[in-house]
Amino acid sequence: MPQAANSAATLFIDGEWVSAAEGRTREIRCPADGALVATVDEAGPADATRAISAARRAFDDGAWPTTSPWQRGDLLLRVSDILMRDKATFARAESLDTGKRLVESEYDIDDIAACFRYFGKIAGTDAGRLVDTGSPDAISRVQYEPVGVCTMITPWNYPLLQVAWKVAPALAAGNTFVLKPSELTPSTAILLVRALTEAGLPAGVGNLVLGTGAEVGSVLAEHPDVDLVSFTGGLHTGRKISASAAATVKKVALELGGKNPNVVFADADFETAVDYALTAVFLHSGQVCSAGARLIVQDELHDALVDEIVRRAERIRIGGPFDDDADTGPLISANHLRKVDDYVAKSVAEGAVLRTGGRRPAGERYAAGHYYLPTVLDEVKQGSYAVTEESFGPVLTVERFSDEDDAVRIANDTHYGLAGAVFTGDPGKAQRVANRLRHGTVWINDFHPYLPQAEWGGFKQSGIGRELGRAGLGEYQEAKHVYQNLRPAPQNWFPEE
Ligand code: NAD
Repeated sequence: MPQAANSAATLFIDGEWVSAAEGRTREIRCPADGALVATVDEAGPADATRAISAARRAFDDGAWPTTSPWQRGDLLLRVSDILMRDKATFARAESLDTGKRLVESEYDIDDIAACFRYFGKIAGTDAGRLVDTGSPDAISRVQYEPVGVCTMITPWNYPLLQVAWKVAPALAAGNTFVLKPSELTPSTAILLVRALTEAGLPAGVGNLVLGTGAEVGSVLAEHPDVDLVSFTGGLHTGRKISASAAATVKKVALELGGKNPNVVFADADFETAVDYALTAVFLHSGQVCSAGARLIVQDELHDALVDEIVRRAERIRIGGPFDDDADTGPLISANHLRKVDDYVAKSVAEGAVLRTGGRRPAGERYAAGHYYLPTVLDEVKQGSYAVTEESFGPVLTVERFSDEDDAVRIANDTHYGLAGAVFTGDPGKAQRVANRLRHGTVWINDFHPYLPQAEWGGFKQSGIGRELGRAGLGEYQEAKHVYQNLRPAPQNWFPEE
């Protein structure tokens, strides 16, 4: 297989490509067949600390934070152009690292370029605002400034997309950063740093360290020179990062997991509901934070809908990223495959009815990859393990509801609150349910679309803060109030005599 990233030094610190201080490396293997994709440097705590120092210097002494936001925006627009110019290279690298279908990676690169374009365009559009002081003798304004040194820790499911959602707004706002992508999928982060350099990013402003969460991520979350840590990943890791960051009261942005309800009323268009229910959960083999893993279906539709979903799930073709006959790919790792299988076994043990899947596909073609069949677990009980835990695999659980109130109650009965959907032919009911769902994104008669100009993030334990949209830029800004007295004279609050 072609190399996604060559074996030259792959850490980027203070404007230089460097090897890890301890000389360690890691092999990146394609989850579809175990083929070697790249050998990259494996950073340790010393590399992380060096990268933070470089970002600190670039922020405290460098020109980037005070460069005109318009110029910062121009750089992001150049990055967007490079992404589109090199789309084939980026997409191939993403597919090799993740095993996802090439066409999905190509969509991702389009979305990543759009994200850079959006933040490039809005970077200079908000110079702050004048505030009425109530006095002709004073003026007051609120202005937005960068937060400082930002560390970014990202997952493997949408490797470059999750990076872009952080890097683009952070740079637009004038911050410096240290990025640690998932140790499993570093190739496109390396390519992105090359693109940032080509676009003219000054030395020290963007730094890349590759390594594990325990060794490198923990330093990025704890280090006193870091002002903000932005994390996307699992709930348990998010809790740890939040606790580490608390010691120095860093700002924390968390994009965590989801257990996302897909509510289907009996009056929904049947074919549409079936089609979207499948895409909602089986896209990228369920390794999507907003996957519609909980089908919540009205009683009278249950049997017909679930029968059809099972029939169609059994026709989903599984294969490698470059196989023309594949509809979906493998799971990321053997470890993750084991977790998904354990989740299914535990759910069945507590009473879920396994309608299809629940095992690896048979055949030589799948022997070297981490494949798992699309799985449907019917008749799961509210509050059970199956509906409270995220499987992050191709597993659909099915619950029933009787009426609108019941649907909302069940859909909200989760400690997560990332995304949800409602399918119905009644627009009024759709709006009522959408308004009552306690989730950061709600789709009506659709699933999955998001826009760079619309905020993304979680209610409840799905996270803190927002990415994308104006609020996504705001995460990386401090609001400063500047008040000027135009007629300075003694107040004599504490009189001289
Ligand atoms: P993970 O939490 O295991 O790892 C995410 C990142 O955190 C990796 O870079 C990892 O190296 C690092 N990490 C691990 N332990 C750490 C520690 N102690 N300190 C600092 N960093 C540490 O998650 P994952 O398995 O890579 O990703 C899957 C999870 O991500 C799922 O729960 C999914 O829902 C979530 N996710 C959420 C969103 C969103 O937008 N809300 C998007 C994508 C993925």
